[in-house]
Amino acid sequence: MGKNLVIIGGGAGGASTAAEAKRDDPSLNVIILQMGKFVSYASCPTPYYIGDLIKDENKLIARTPAKFNEDGIGVQLNAEVINIKENIVEIKDRRQVPYDILVMATGTSAIVPNMPGIDLPGVFSLRNLEDAIHIKTWLREKNAKRVIIIGGGFIGLEMSEALHAAGIKTTIIHKDAMPANRWDAALSSIMLEELQTHGVEFVANATAQAIEKGTTALLRVTTDKGAWDGDLVLLAIGVRPDAQLAKSIGFNIGKTGAIAVNFAQQTSMENVYAVGDCCESWHRVSRRWANIQLGDIANKQGRVAGRNIGGRPLTFDGIVGAQSFRLFNLECAATGLSENEALAAGYAPVSNITWGSAMAPAPGMRKIGLKLIADKSSGKLLGAQAVGVAGVVGRINALSVALWAGLNIDEIGYLDLAYAPPFSAAWDIIHNSAQALRRMI
Ligand SMILES: Cc1cc2nc3c(=O)[nH]c(=O)nc-3n(C[C@H](O)[C@H](O)[C@H](O)COP(=O)(O)OP(=O)(O)OC[C@H]3O[C@@H](n4cnc5c(N)ncnc54)[C@H](O)[C@@H]3O)c2cc1C
Repeated sequence: MGKNLVIIGGGAGGASTAAEAKRDDPSLNVIILQMGKFVSYASCPTPYYIGDLIKDENKLIARTPAKFNEDGIGVQLNAEVINIKENIVEIKDRRQVPYDILVMATGTSAIVPNMPGIDLPGVFSLRNLEDAIHIKTWLREKNAKRVIIIGGGFIGLEMSEALHAAGIKTTIIHKDAMPANRWDAALSSIMLEELQTHGVEFVANATAQAIEKGTTALLRVTTDKGAWDGDLVLLAIGVRPDAQLAKSIGFNIGKTGAIAVNFAQQTSMENVYAVGDCCESWHRVSRRWANIQLGDIANKQGRVAGRNIGGRPLTFDGIVGAQSFRLFNLECAATGLSENEALAAGYAPVSNITWGSAMAPAPGMRKIGLKLIADKSSGKLLGAQAVGVAGVVGRINALSVALWAGLNIDEIGYLDLAYAPPFSAAWDIIHNSAQALRRMI
C-alpha cells in the first residue's frame, strides 16, 4: 500500500502537485480535496469568459475529475477542509481523510471592504471559475448595460476590456490618481488614455463608501467623489493569501501573512508542503520572502513540491516578480522591484524612463515606454516596467532573465538581443535605456 498524499485545494498549485507526484511515484494514493464544484481550472482567462470572448467554461478546465481518476488521482469536490489534526484532515460535512503527506494549496481569499450594501445581490468578487459563471449569468439575466468596478489594478483593468467586448460600459473607481499602481505614473497615464479611448470611465482618487439600490441601474456605488449607477458591482481591490487554516493549527506564517516554506516547498510541519498563492516565494532581487499571487508561480511550486514528494528532489529557486497583462491595444508588463520596494530592501535606487519604438524608424513607429531601476552603488538592475502597443512582454521577459542572473546596467546596455527592423532598432530600447541610466549614475 502506497502513502496517502492529500492535497487541500485543486487550483493551479494543487493540481500541478498531484499530477507531478503521481507521475514520479505511482504508488502514491493521491486525493485532491476541493471546495466548490470545479477542479484544475484556470482563473486567469475568466475575464475573457465573462466578456464572452471564450464562450465555453469547459475551455478553462485543464483536467476534469474523470481525467484525474484515469491517472489514478482521486478528487473530492465540495470538500472544504476545516481542520487538520494527527494526520487526519476534517471536511466540513464531517468526513475524515487520513494522510501521510499533506499539501496546502488553498490560494487566496478576496479582500471585501466593510461597507453598507456589500451583501446586496449583484455585488461580486472574481476569484475563480464559479465566481465567473455567477457574474456572466447575472449580466445576461439582468441584460446589464453598465458595470461599476471598484479597484483599478490589473484584474479591474482586464475586466473593463472584457466587458467592453461584450458591449457593456464600465466605470472604474480607484483610490489613486492612476490605474495599475505597480507601474510608474508616466506609464500608467498611457493606460488611462487607453481606457478613455475605449469609453471606460475612470474615477480617480475616490473611495467607495456604500452600495445601495440604484435609480438608473440596479445598484449605486456612493463614493467621496459622487455616486455611480451600474447593473453589477465588481469588487477588485485585491486578495490576501488564504493561510487561515494553516495559522489556526500552528504553521509558521511569514511576515507577508502567507505560509512560510523552504526551497523544497516544505512548511514548518513535518510532511506538510505548501504551494501557490497561499505560501511565500524567495524574491531573488529583494532577497526576502515575498507573496506574489500569480498563476505561473503556483504551477512551478506545485511541480517542485510534486517532485520532492515523488522522490525526484528539486528546489524552487525563487522569483523576480515578472507580470504582464493586456489592456485593449496595450501590452503592460513589469518585473523586479519598484523604487519604494528597492529602498525597503536596502538598495539606493536610481531610475529613468525612455520612450522609443518597438520597431526600427524606417518601417514605422510603435510607441513603447520603458522604465529601468538600478542600484546606484553596484549598477545592478533592480526592476523594469513597460507599456506599449507591441514588444513589451518580450522585453520585460528579457529583463527578467537579466534580474535572475543579477546583471548590471553596463552588461544590459550591450546585451546580445535579436535585431530586425520590424521588431527593434539595432540599438534596442533596452540598450538605450540602460546606457542612459549608466550616464545618470
Ligand atoms: C481574474 C483573474 C485573473 C488572473 N490573471 C492572471 C494572469 O494573467 N497571470 C497570472 O500569472 N496569474 C493570474 N491570476 C492569478 C492566478 O489565477 C493565481 O495566482 C493562481 O490561480 C493561484 O493558484 P493556487 O493553486 O495557489 O490557488 P487557486 O487557483 O486559487 O486554487 C486554490 C483552491 O483551493 C480551494 N480551497 C481553499 N481553501 C480550501 C479548503 N479549506 N478546502 C478545500 N479547498 C480549498 C479554493 O476553492 C481554490 O479552488 C489571475 C487571477 C484572477 C482571479
